[in-house]
Amino acid sequence: LVVAADGIHSTVRHALFPDHPGPVYSGFTTWRTVVPLPGVRFASHETWGPGRLWGTHPLKDGRVYAYAAALAPAGEHAADDERAELLRRYGDWHDPIPAVLAAARPEDVLRHDVHHITEPLPAYHHGRVALVGDAAHAMPPTLGQGGNQAVEDAVTLAHHAGDLSAYTADRLPRTTGIARRAVRAARLGLMTDRAGIAVRDTAITVLSRAVPALLLRSFDEVASWRPPTSDAVSFGAEPRQ
Ligand SMILES: Cc1cc2nc3c(=O)[nH]c(=O)nc-3n(C[C@H](O)[C@H](O)[C@H](O)COP(=O)(O)OP(=O)(O)OC[C@H]3O[C@@H](n4cnc5c(N)ncnc54)[C@H](O)[C@@H]3O)c2cc1C
Repeated sequence: LVVAADGIHSTVRHALFPDHPGPVYSGFTTWRTVVPLPGVRFASHETWGPGRLWGTHPLKDGRVYAYAAALAPAGEHAADDERAELLRRYGDWHDPIPAVLAAARPEDVLRHDVHHITEPLPAYHHGRVALVGDAAHAMPPTLGQGGNQAVEDAVTLAHHAGDLSAYTADRLPRTTGIARRAVRAARLGLMTDRAGIAVRDTAITVLSRAVPALLLRSFDEVASWRPPTSDAVSFGAEPRQ
């Protein structure tokens, strides 16, 4: 068994499925940073502005994880540094964003353009080669699921190591559905059209008031995943003694 876990620009995917178009630019770029922020009190949040968003979340060790995403041409980089770029784009946003930016050094800020696979692969295996993670189903990070789905792949593959078609049957529909949701979430969070934004914000406000926790509950299908049970284990043609 060969397990190909070689990421979004997978050489193995291209070798197994040469006609597949591969990943495309998702239309937006991202920044990430982790900083100490002692004494600053804030609530975990993700805030949406026209064509850009910012999220701040506390980490267990007391530091703060912050990320931002914005529509931008592929390959663009700040002429000075990416912290300065964040200051230009988000410096006048609400607390604790200015404090996060003040605490970050230029070298603490990562910037990555986002790419994803738009056309699902015909299978996540070929012969005795199995693709896992971004090699199989690179998706935008807007649901925070790329790494999670890679872990689910690995656990499922361990159960179906003898029958890779069972691995594909288990993983391809689920990851395709989640990847499509991640694309929709990116479109929703990064809208630029004023009328569309007004409709979005009103719908979310009304729905959240009418059905509290509705948005969280819509995530149940993703979060309620359980590993295959042992009676679903396939070890190949030979029955296990
Ligand atoms: C901005 C951003 C935010 C994200 N946020 C989240 C999140 O909150 N939650 C989440 O679950 N996911 C998130 N993700 C997605 C997550 O990072 C990926 O889905 C995950 O890293 C995929 O893991 P992987 O092992 O498949 O690929 P990778 O992590 O890309 O690992 C592939 C590895 O293979 C190596 N490799 C490639 N080719 C070869 C070769 N020929 N020989 C040897 N080694 C090779 C590479 O060097 C690399 O180390 C985010 C992604 C981005 C870009």
